[in-house]
Amino acid sequence: MPNEKYSLLKYDETKEYHLFKSYIGNEGKCLLEGKDPTPICGDNVVIADRSSALFVCRDEVSSRTKCAVKANEGIEICGRCVGSLYKTGSKVRR
Ligand SMILES: [Zn+2]
Repeated sequence: MPNEKYSLLKYDETKEYHLFKSYIGNEGKCLLEGKDPTPICGDNVVIADRSSALFVCRDEVSSRTKCAVKANEGIEICGRCVGSLYKTGSKVRR
């Protein structure tokens, strides 16, 4: 089972942050999954703006913590994206 990694990027249009599945590439850089990355919530209007990342390539547990902290700071994060981090038992399939 590959260790899922997530990145939190802002969608400039709505100023809301979304989670994207990510992985560490061959060169040790964090990359988003897919040619045309869509956030976990499946909202394909959202465009990934890598320059706006709050964090990149964190594991599930760490992403949850970080999202909770950021939400407390008043940063808007997509509820559907965050919710998917809490689906325990049913691992996200590829
Ligand atoms: Zn989302």
